[in-house]
Amino acid sequence: MWFRRDLRLNDHAALAAAASEGDVIGVFIRDPAFNRAAGTRREQFMVRALSSLSAQMGGALVIKVGDPAQVLTDLVTHTGARTVFVSREYTPYGRGRDAKVASALRDIGAQLRGVGSNYIVDPGRVVKGSGDPYAVFTPFSKVWRTLATDAPVDTPANISWVNLPNDPGSHVSTGEELPHQWFSTEPAGVQARWEGFCESALARYHRDRDLAAIDGSSRLSVALRWGLVHPRSLMADVAEIAAISDQKGDEDVREGIRVFTSELAWREFYADVLFHKPHTAWRNLNPKMDAIAVDTDAAARGRFERWVRGETGFGIVDAGMRQLLATGWMHNRVRMIVASFLVKDLHLPWQWGAQHFMNHLLDGDLASNQHGWQWAAGTGTDAAPYFRVFNPQTQMERYDPNGDYCGQWIPEWGSTQYPSPMVDHSAERIEALARYSAIRG
Ligand code: FAD
Repeated sequence: MWFRRDLRLNDHAALAAAASEGDVIGVFIRDPAFNRAAGTRREQFMVRALSSLSAQMGGALVIKVGDPAQVLTDLVTHTGARTVFVSREYTPYGRGRDAKVASALRDIGAQLRGVGSNYIVDPGRVVKGSGDPYAVFTPFSKVWRTLATDAPVDTPANISWVNLPNDPGSHVSTGEELPHQWFSTEPAGVQARWEGFCESALARYHRDRDLAAIDGSSRLSVALRWGLVHPRSLMADVAEIAAISDQKGDEDVREGIRVFTSELAWREFYADVLFHKPHTAWRNLNPKMDAIAVDTDAAARGRFERWVRGETGFGIVDAGMRQLLATGWMHNRVRMIVASFLVKDLHLPWQWGAQHFMNHLLDGDLASNQHGWQWAAGTGTDAAPYFRVFNPQTQMERYDPNGDYCGQWIPEWGSTQYPSPMVDHSAERIEALARYSAIRG
């Protein structure tokens, strides 16, 4: 069993398939391609998640370092394993890597077998009658709901793990301490967060999820990113809660569940879009938007650095950017606001912001992140029209009305130390609209 973004034993289709065939070697490969791309905090979180997983396996997780095709062919040659089980991956890099691994294994008479994925409905499965993919979320989500009905997979009892030595240096720690305990890597911690959310926040989710100072969302994006939990388990739990609330006629719970499951569907929609259009990882989905003028000179770099540090002088933008640096996570509404600010107030390429997010977010996920950015930049699917420009002041009044979120993340909030706004929003709004008109001819 080659673990990747599925660092758990529960509700794990590939692991169940591997265990049904006999003894299992559980291996994780530290692929140098990711060391280059990942930020140190992500690295730290991954190391911790691997330790948790190994502990659940009685210490039997084998951690190797190197090119996956090489590592796996060596492992197969030395152990006599015939099949390498994986949860299927759908990112452009993951698909390319898995094709290489499958061919290397074939060459030595072994096979790579993909069973299940980190999605309830695998990318590529939701299609129109014509067989074409959906380009818009709402019709996608209608079909997705009819397919998102699989029950969780039973956890195999008594897996017979094979112990092998780890590679030297496989547990490299970056030395940077994870500052925040919101994001547990332990199954019990993830489960406790989820149950707590279901008990208290779910019934208010549709109302509270936009309020930046409130702990009103599940904060499970990190666990979902690393596969500490499968979304199918979450769907099954909310289906049970829905059945009870239907009996009681509890409208709030029903609405909370409808909106929450729709967010899970967004995650799968974006994975589906990236699967069909891999170039959208770094290029505009809508090529007409390629012509829009963006700033990339030294002054633009300077503006970018202020945005990164959370020193723009716009409270909700700065609080969000500092929450990201401090915790590796940012509230969803605030992600939308800071992204819009980077693109439409600072006129910078969305890719700069997306890269910064990927370096710092513990939940950094290519599909959700790049398409979240493209949504804000007006270049992607279901995009907010480019001419709709978020006003950071009004957004703050609406989503942090008492200033609690700003106060929490900006120590100098409300004092003379806090910088004054780095741009005049109304002037930049006009500039953004002018750049947009220019490409519309
Ligand atoms: P909840 O509100 O509890 O939602 C439950 C789950 O649904 C989330 O854990 C997540 O898996 C999924 N989800 C919720 N909202 C979205 C959304 N808009 N798009 C896709 N999936 C969603 N999410 C990531 O997981 N990784 C990213 O790298 C990422 N980058 C983003 C960048 C931008 C610019 C924007 C606007 C959004 C981004 N999102 C990303 C989506 C969203 O902000 C986070 O998933 C959410 O804030 C996570 O908090 P939560 O777990 O409490 O979500």
